[in-house]
Amino acid sequence: MMKRILTREVAVGGVTIGGNQPIAVQSMIVEDTANVKGCIDEILKLHDAGCEIVRVTTPNLKDAHHLGAIREGLAKVGKSHIPLVADIHHNGYKIAQEVSRYVDKIRINPGLFVFKRRNPGEEYSDAEIREEQDKIREQMVKVIEACKTNQTAMRIGVNHGSLSERMLFIHGDTPAGMVESALEFIDICEDEAYYDIIVSLKASRVPVMLEANRLIARRWADRLNAYPLHLGVTEAGDGQYARVKSTAGIATLLAEGIGDTIRVSLAEDPIEEIPVCYDILQSLGLRKTKVEFIACPSCGRTKFNLTEVVPKVRAATEHLKGLDIAIMGCIVNGPGEMADADYGYVGKGLGRVAIYRGREEVLKNVPENEGVTKLIALIKEDGRWEEPARKAATP
Ligand code: SF4
Repeated sequence: MMKRILTREVAVGGVTIGGNQPIAVQSMIVEDTANVKGCIDEILKLHDAGCEIVRVTTPNLKDAHHLGAIREGLAKVGKSHIPLVADIHHNGYKIAQEVSRYVDKIRINPGLFVFKRRNPGEEYSDAEIREEQDKIREQMVKVIEACKTNQTAMRIGVNHGSLSERMLFIHGDTPAGMVESALEFIDICEDEAYYDIIVSLKASRVPVMLEANRLIARRWADRLNAYPLHLGVTEAGDGQYARVKSTAGIATLLAEGIGDTIRVSLAEDPIEEIPVCYDILQSLGLRKTKVEFIACPSCGRTKFNLTEVVPKVRAATEHLKGLDIAIMGCIVNGPGEMADADYGYVGKGLGRVAIYRGREEVLKNVPENEGVTKLIALIKEDGRWEEPARKAATP
C-alpha cells in the first residue's frame, strides 16, 4: 500500500486539504467573472457534479467585488458552503487583499506576483535581484495580513511556463527553479507566521511536473512544515490524450504518496474534469465513489458475449456505491483473478454462467440470459441492494 506523505491540514472553507483528509477534487469555472449570475450557475453545476472546491478568475479589482456578489448569490440559494478560490494574476496584490474578504482561498502565481517584462535571458544585477525580492516581500506581507484577518488560505501556485525572469536567470528553466520559486514565497509566509498554505508546481510536460513535485516533497523533510500539494498538468488539451496525460502526472505522484488535492485541466467543459478526477482516485483506492467493476478482456475460453454483458451488468448495478463486481470470461482463471470482488459473474459452459459471492460459487449453472437478473437477486437477498435514484422528469 502507498504511504501518503503527511502534510499540514489547511482549511479551505468547509473542506480541509492535507493530512489524512480525502484527496479533494477541484476545478475552475470559465464564465466571465463580471457575469455574476452566469458564474453562480456554473459554480452550482460544477458543485452538483462533485467538484469540492471551485476557482474563479479575478483579473482586476472590479472582479474582486464580483466575487463578493457571487458569494452573496450563493448564500441566497443556501450554497454559501461551496469553497471558492480567487485566481490572482499579474501584479495583483491589491486584488488579492480585497478578494480575500470574499473567498476561502486565493491563488497567487509567484512568477507573476511582481511582474516586470524583461527580455528573456537578460542579466540581473545583484541590486536588481534584491530590489525585486524586497518588492515581493513588501507586497506579500500585505496580502498575508489580509488573509490572516479574513482566515483565507493561499495557494502558492507555480507554473513552469510562467516562472519569473529572475528565477530563470538564477536557477534556469528547471524543476529546481520551480521549487525555489515556491519556497521563496513560503519563506515570507512563515516569517509572518502564516501557515494556511497549499502549493502547486504545474507544468504541461509530465516529467517536469513529476520532478518538481518529487523535489519539493523531499524538501519538506528539512523544513518547518510540509504543506499540502495541489497536483495538475497544465494545458493538457482535450479528449483521450488529455485524460491520459493528466492521469500520468497526477496518478504517478499520488501512487508515491505525494498530493492532497487534484485538478484535471481539460480544454472542455470543466464538468468533464470531475469524473476523470474521481476515476484517478478510485483506481488508486484513494476514494470510492462508485462500483468498482473488474472485467477480464475475454479470450478463446469465453463462451458468452462478455462485451455485451459488461455494459448490462454496469447499467443494472452502477448506482450501488461501495461494491466491487467482477465479470470474468471463464471459470478456469476468472474466480482466482476477481481480486476479492464482492460479487462475480463468471462464464461457465456454452451459454451458462455462475454467480459468485466473494469466492463462493452461489449459483452454479445459470442460463446466460438470466445472469444479470440472478446477480441482482443475490445482491438483494444479501441486503446490499438500493433502488436507483429516479431521474428527474423532463418538462
Ligand atoms: S479470465 Fe478466462 S476468459 Fe478471461 S481472459 Fe482470463 S482465461 Fe480468458
